[in-house]
Amino acid sequence: MRTIDQYNFAGKKALVRVDFNVPLDEHNRITDDTRIRAVVPTIRKILGDGGAVILMSHLGRPKNGPEEKYSLKHLVDRLSDEFDTVVRFAPDCTGPEAAAIAKDLKPRDILLLENLRFHKEEEKGDPAFAKELASLGDVYVNDAFGTAHRAHASTAIIADYFPHDKMMGYVMQAELENARRVLDNVERPYTAIMGGAKISDKILIIEKLMDKVDYLLIGGGMSYTFVKADGGNIGSSLVEEDKVALAARLIAMAREKGVTLMIPVDSVIADEFSNDANVDIKLSHHIPPLWMGLDIGPDARETYADVIRNSKTILWNGPMGVFEMSNFSVGTEAIADAVVDATLRGAYSLIGGGDSAAAVNQLGYADRVSYVSTGGGALLEYMEGKTLPGVAALEE
Ligand code: AMP
Repeated sequence: MRTIDQYNFAGKKALVRVDFNVPLDEHNRITDDTRIRAVVPTIRKILGDGGAVILMSHLGRPKNGPEEKYSLKHLVDRLSDEFDTVVRFAPDCTGPEAAAIAKDLKPRDILLLENLRFHKEEEKGDPAFAKELASLGDVYVNDAFGTAHRAHASTAIIADYFPHDKMMGYVMQAELENARRVLDNVERPYTAIMGGAKISDKILIIEKLMDKVDYLLIGGGMSYTFVKADGGNIGSSLVEEDKVALAARLIAMAREKGVTLMIPVDSVIADEFSNDANVDIKLSHHIPPLWMGLDIGPDARETYADVIRNSKTILWNGPMGVFEMSNFSVGTEAIADAVVDATLRGAYSLIGGGDSAAAVNQLGYADRVSYVSTGGGALLEYMEGKTLPGVAALEE
């Protein structure tokens, strides 16, 4: 697969699919610009060669056409500051105005197209829509790893119109390289930490990891489905009743494969789902009725941190508790600390997207782990061994 380093963009107009799906506050101000910063090197490379850049992205999940709060125009000033230029904006990603601005672009100009998802053809992967987008540029660069698991018009279908001029940007390249580091030839011990709300989102990856890891540490809401499968009383904790049998199977599978699967021995419990709830610490197998486990407890923190500190390869996906509430964020913080320590001792650590990435960013630890993935679902699907349409489309 071609990378942008193998291409000279001089005199070319590069259509770059980026992931500018950034959070905005009620005044439409960007509250976290991580995703913008991530693609700056790709854009600079193209501009540096003497190319022009046409940026296309989605933002949020608009339902029926344009919506002010999902407009990418809110990013224009931030981008103009970053590149010290006046970034142009097309108020519709297709149509005569976008075509006219694109035609007029000079080397080193930047054009940002309005939210692709204002057209339902984007998510449908409509070929005519993809073709119209393609007509705006001479070369296609995909740097949106976070949507690479979708066969949308701008992430996959569009590549058909650039049989010889399609390639991945630096973000996509780094994401794939880092994902491969936890898949093949890993240094051992290899520990995967799986947390978050639901086991159902993570079944396939957990099964896949059973063939690779030495330790599988379970945390977050999904722990309680495992505790229940192990015969525990979990009170009102989150549980997926229809996955209890599956959790039991995973426990048995770990035993067969010699993987040490750990369930948090104790939990921080609360009498309601609130930061103001009464809290207590109990064994995860003995949570009283009406109480719920909202974080891993002190013994689990210590055991997990020990395993992590002695690991050489670490994959972490999903928080250990309701980390958005300060009373239930201690477990996630303790795990983050241990991952940072292990990394300092030479371990390779990959933080896999979504909420664990948010937690690591929130703690200011992003530079102290090996890599923080920007792609939640895409990373999981890649690790499950699925073909990502956005990646496959770049293959020649
Ligand atoms: P996920 O999107 O599956 O990674 O789940 C992340 C969400 O799980 C976060 O919003 C957490 O607040 C939530 N979560 C983590 N632990 C628990 C728990 N013990 N009970 C309920 N929700 C939880």
